Amino acid sequence: MLTYQEALSVILENTKILGKEKVFLNDALNRVLAEDIVADRDNPPADNSGMDGFAVRYEDIVGASQTNPAVLKIFGESKAGDIPPVLEKGYAIPIYTGALIPQGADTVIQKEFTKVEDGKVYIYKELKKGSNIRPKAGDYKKGDVLIKSGKTLRPPEIGILSSVNKPTIYVYQKPRVAIITTGDEILDLAEPITKESQIRTSNTYSLYAQVLQAGAYPTVIGFAKDNPEDVREKLKYAKNFDVVLTTGGVSVGEYDLVKDFVKEVLNVNIHFWKVAIKPGKPLVFGTWGEDNSKLFFGIPGNPVASMVVFEVFVKPALRKMMGYEKIHSLTVDAILTQDFSRKSADRLEFIRVNVEYKNGNFYATPFGKQGSNILTGMVNANGLGIVEVGVESLKKDDKIRVVLFDTEFLYG
Ligand code: AMP
Ligand code: MG
Repeated sequence: MLTYQEALSVILENTKILGKEKVFLNDALNRVLAEDIVADRDNPPADNSGMDGFAVRYEDIVGASQTNPAVLKIFGESKAGDIPPVLEKGYAIPIYTGALIPQGADTVIQKEFTKVEDGKVYIYKELKKGSNIRPKAGDYKKGDVLIKSGKTLRPPEIGILSSVNKPTIYVYQKPRVAIITTGDEILDLAEPITKESQIRTSNTYSLYAQVLQAGAYPTVIGFAKDNPEDVREKLKYAKNFDVVLTTGGVSVGEYDLVKDFVKEVLNVNIHFWKVAIKPGKPLVFGTWGEDNSKLFFGIPGNPVASMVVFEVFVKPALRKMMGYEKIHSLTVDAILTQDFSRKSADRLEFIRVNVEYKNGNFYATPFGKQGSNILTGMVNANGLGIVEVGVESLKKDDKIRVVLFDTEFLYG
């Protein structure tokens, strides 16, 4: 059986980045840029003022002081967006932040060092030549690469894209992900419960939400009963997707059919079935489509296994397809707040923990009921603590690696 690391490597080696697509600037948030962004002009485009005050010639204010102010005649004005008049010797032009430096001026005196009286300005301080001038191209030059392909677009990048006049940009595509739920006992929302043995689905919609949260496009294709015809029929509708997720039907039971029928219907090339992890052992992974660039994950039916497998295997693959350089969730070392023990240590176990951050340390408290069918274990958790193969027990205050699938607790 493959180890967690081996399985992850197989998945990522077989996961290819998708193609590019053009999106509008307003749809680009959180997408990964698929082109280099080049400056269309200098920024600032011309010398301009960093202060409200007066544009002067340095030679006219040399020696100015509290007791011996320079006195200049006020002329014209330079406002942001205007082309100002030329500054002659002996004059000062009122100027505002962001306004162009008039021809002939070389220094801006901020308002605080001046007094205005009878059309004249008294300047009480000699500033260095060039003071308060923001030089042309001080930020960047025309032709500079401002954002490199591969960068995740956040609000600062969106601002730059706008400032260089890019109403549309190339980003990497998002995978279309089909979700097929299997199980005779599983009911969709609103289906009437007629037998005690029936179970209302949780995986269908938790997977939907996980795909959405990962940034990809989920679609619920349908619910297949545990018989060949139904499984085949539902799989047919997955043909146009980039990724197919099935839930249930992958363990060894007589009615576990998925891995045989994905071969038949989608021509899936199965890379592995079963990983030495808990929960999630019966995970199936395969590739299919023209150049085997489409992915198939047969996800075990237990609700916790489904969420854990998505978090540690499917999400990194989806992020890789979308061009993200960082594909794994934040993983930290935490301090266990309680002892933990288990009966068998032959698999790597992801235990549901609640992580808190106090005085510079992460503290992890394992959830009491760790069964892979205990849905509430995930609801109360924000992390998956990793118990390595061979480790039977951990003591309070021991270190544990934790995959944080929810970082809301880090907000103030
Ligand atoms: P399976 O992987 O099909 O053998 O299912 C394992 C366990 O998970 C069984 O107890 C199922 O009833 C349960 N299960 C399977 N699919 C779902 C689902 N969509 N929602 C909730 N529980 C499920
Ligand atoms: Mg089943």
